[in-house]
Amino acid sequence: RIAYVNGLYVPHGEAGVHIEDRGFQFADGVYEVCEVRDGHLIDETRHISRLIRSLGELRMAMPMSRAALGLVLREVVRRNRVRDGLVYLQVTRGVAQRNFLFPANTTPTLVVTARATSRAELEQRAEAGISVITVPDNRWDRVDIKTVGLLPNCLAKEAAKAAGAREAWFVDRDGYVTEGGSSNAWIVSAEGRLITRPAEFGILRGITRTVTLEVAARLNLQVEERGFTREEAYAAVEAFVTSATLGVMPVVRIDGRAVGDGKPGRAARELRATFHSVAEVAP
Ligand code: PMP
Repeated sequence: RIAYVNGLYVPHGEAGVHIEDRGFQFADGVYEVCEVRDGHLIDETRHISRLIRSLGELRMAMPMSRAALGLVLREVVRRNRVRDGLVYLQVTRGVAQRNFLFPANTTPTLVVTARATSRAELEQRAEAGISVITVPDNRWDRVDIKTVGLLPNCLAKEAAKAAGAREAWFVDRDGYVTEGGSSNAWIVSAEGRLITRPAEFGILRGITRTVTLEVAARLNLQVEERGFTREEAYAAVEAFVTSATLGVMPVVRIDGRAVGDGKPGRAARELRATFHSVAEVAP
């Protein structure tokens, strides 16, 4: 495997950044994960736009132009011979003597990796559906920024694993589901309406979420962008999560209770089947 680190393509096993990198010291960095399908980046434009937004919120600049970054992503995908998989990119504020204050003139660190994933395995998982548990949302309130500070997410997903589940849904103090540890959360009401929390506050605006809203419109599915409680989720006829890694992934159990008939729901299956005809396929 080959990784890109600050201008160089290096063997993955030898790739590294400095111990004083602010990504390592302070989680002072942001990232993106983009799906690769049939050798093409999916929704690259939106992912890079969100990257620019995340960087801006942290007063960081793009490490290179959009076009140059696009070339690096493609080169890493090519060098790793990824047809179906994921490309990961991380930008940190760079290397500086450890000090909480932002350094004056550092060069940002850019790391890009790519790996293949099995489409067949993912489809199998989607046919079975996944289980989720709920956990208190103990994160800071700037989760709209896609930072590498993911320890609460790691803990939540560890708790899910210990409970035999794949994903954890964060629940805020008022009992409302915010989002998953690495996905956005959706339910379908008895009236057949898709319900997902507005992305203005308290969640990451998932790219897969945005595209799924478009897919829903194409399929004439009614959508309510509003918060939903854990109890509402228990009573839902369907549930699913969305992320670049999973796509639209049916949820069949929440906290051990079957969702609907305990099988992947129709809306989720339709959305999943239609997703890639709506998502942007980059050249
Ligand atoms: N929320 C969180 C907390 C995430 O980590 C992710 C995936 N990185 C998502 C939502 C889904 O975002 P996307 O659809 O852009 O992958």
